[in-house]
Amino acid sequence: MVIEVAWGARTHTGHRRAENQDAVLAQPPVFAVADGMGGHAGGQLASGLAIDGLRALADKGEPSRLDLLDAVRSIDRAIEARGETDAPGMGTTLTGIALTGSGQDHLVVFNIGDSRSYLLRGSSFVQLTHDHSVVQELIDQGELSAEQAEHHPERHVITRSLGSGEHLDIDWWSIEPKPGDRYLLCSDGLTKELHASEIHHLLTYSPDPTSAAQALLDAALNAGARDNVSVVVVNLLSVDSTPDDPSGLDDETNPRAVAPTAPPPSDDAIREMPR
Ligand code: MG
Repeated sequence: MVIEVAWGARTHTGHRRAENQDAVLAQPPVFAVADGMGGHAGGQLASGLAIDGLRALADKGEPSRLDLLDAVRSIDRAIEARGETDAPGMGTTLTGIALTGSGQDHLVVFNIGDSRSYLLRGSSFVQLTHDHSVVQELIDQGELSAEQAEHHPERHVITRSLGSGEHLDIDWWSIEPKPGDRYLLCSDGLTKELHASEIHHLLTYSPDPTSAAQALLDAALNAGARDNVSVVVVNLLSVDSTPDDPSGLDDETNPRAVAPTAPPPSDDAIREMPR
């Protein structure tokens, strides 16, 4: 399967932070956003190591899903090792998409932490990833509403990251690519400033991926940009599959996978995918 893409990416320190601890990769076949944490030195180092590791993967061409997961495991160990000497406690989120040329997984979305990947398919805008955060766990348990989560004192606390030294637990989804699909990868510096409906609107009215990335960044800056802001937009221009190419969802990913045909948008135009 050959997937042609166009993309745009922006990353910005924002208005309140002294430095940018986010990092982005926009190099087909891999696109990603990482949001580092761990103090002055640690955050930048951790997100940088994650993006460097994925860049090395992208340099080798289309990875298999196992190549991708191996690369993430190596990144996890590298951050943990550097953390022991350079910046104890550092870590990073990581979310993104990888285009894989063959096998069952043509497009893999991956996530650890509270950066997010969204899919705009037609008029349906769907958050693909599930935040690994304290507030998301409280929402899942029915103890907190999404609105309450926006002001919760622990809204920045994540429950999974790369480099933590704990067992690596990364979510991934295999999604059937469709021409016209648009993926948005972003750090929480975007999603904590803008409602999903605003993000959906801005994406819809900026068909060009570079313009879309800039429009989203500008909106986050106008909203205050209290954190670093990173945005990667990837448009699938064409998807060329051969008739005997197995397409569709990999059973292994169920029930986390997105439905092959996105559901009609609900009133608020966004919802979590079923897990
Ligand atoms: Mg952040």
